[in-house]
Amino acid sequence: MSQATNQQEFDRASQVLVGGVNSAVRAFRAVGGTPRFIQRAEGARMWDVEGKAYIDYVGSWGPAIVGHSHPEVLKAVQAAVADGLSFGAPNVRETELAQRICDMFPHVERVRFTSSGTESTMSALRLARGYTGRNRIIKFEGCYHGTADSLLVKAGSGALAFGNPSSAGVPEDVVKHTLIARYNDLDSVRRLFEQYPDDVACLIVEPIPGNMNLMVPQPGFLEGLRELCTQYGAVLIFDEVMSGFRVTLTGAQGWCGITPDLSTFGKVIGGGMPVGAVAGPARIMERFAPLGNVYQAGTLSGNPIAMAAGIATIDLISRPGFHDELNRRMTRLVDGLNAAAKKTGVAFCARALGGLGGMYFRATPPVYFEEATDQNLEQYKRFYHLMLEGGVYLPPSPVEAFFLSSAHTDEDIDQTVALAEKSLAAVA
Ligand code: PMP
Repeated sequence: MSQATNQQEFDRASQVLVGGVNSAVRAFRAVGGTPRFIQRAEGARMWDVEGKAYIDYVGSWGPAIVGHSHPEVLKAVQAAVADGLSFGAPNVRETELAQRICDMFPHVERVRFTSSGTESTMSALRLARGYTGRNRIIKFEGCYHGTADSLLVKAGSGALAFGNPSSAGVPEDVVKHTLIARYNDLDSVRRLFEQYPDDVACLIVEPIPGNMNLMVPQPGFLEGLRELCTQYGAVLIFDEVMSGFRVTLTGAQGWCGITPDLSTFGKVIGGGMPVGAVAGPARIMERFAPLGNVYQAGTLSGNPIAMAAGIATIDLISRPGFHDELNRRMTRLVDGLNAAAKKTGVAFCARALGGLGGMYFRATPPVYFEEATDQNLEQYKRFYHLMLEGGVYLPPSPVEAFFLSSAHTDEDIDQTVALAEKSLAAVA
């Protein structure tokens, strides 16, 4: 164990890492205070360098759906490590993970693995443009698809938390083809298609967004997107990097029964190792190199250790009843939080879909982007630090979703709810 405090480690990190971190949201800028330096994580818990334990509702931002350091995942990783870290040549574990994905999603015939969600959405856009020969793309305000230039426009997640939903350093020329629509507002999408009927290559959407906190599609919204894309010949991309394998085993598409043309995955399919994927029918996917003229590659893509972690994780969550049990525990948590809000009179609510949850400092769950950002931020910050002090690690931003794993027990959940009630009472 480090002898230093979190603050000392943060000071030291800040001398050599930009803002002391390697991913902006980790710096706690939205909530203030000192980021926790994590020493170790197991099951539903993380321990910081001061030895303090936290019940973790971030789960590495999604991958840790079976809890941290699950013995079966560790065993698979250790076996893969013994075979070598990276080959730069095909390995059988890539086929095995791809096979599982193809078996799960009827429309998926081919998979291309990358090393991050960002690479997967960036590659999916290039593929859609190469396939259609068109330029424009439609994305939604508040949806986050990673840090590719053309998608870093009115983005959610960390970009939104810092009040910079669009980034400096992205030339106008690059984003002039990015069209922005309003999530849950089909007319805003229809208008864009009517404006550019022959030049929309694709529409990319988080079907169940988790980057403007958790949002739920209104009845008919996703169906409408499917119809418009079909009508105008645009590729419908479901970015399921966050929702995939988490809201149901087959993600948002399994939940709503709508088939996208392409899907992007990440997080859970790497079980905590760096992985992303683009998946879809052969007629589109085979436009990727080496069969087609859309170039895509990666030195560490399909890395055997990452594939091993992904295979073990997918096998664990494919066991009968896994998501039913995850749902049951999530319902216990959400019901408990909502009851606590009622008792304390705070304008607060929570909801969830499968293992993805949202907490909002407002009276009703948001339907539109503007509502997701319309929360009592002062209350959120105070609540956040009371929970952290009490040993519960929540996402350090009011626009992020939270994540439950199968390692969270009823006792963990009850402890969380009891602390939340005390904390809500204190911020009331
Ligand atoms: N798409 C979605 C929906 C995401 O939630 C994220 C990351 N939170 C990404 C893409 C980018 O993934 P990565 O951070 O692995 O690049």
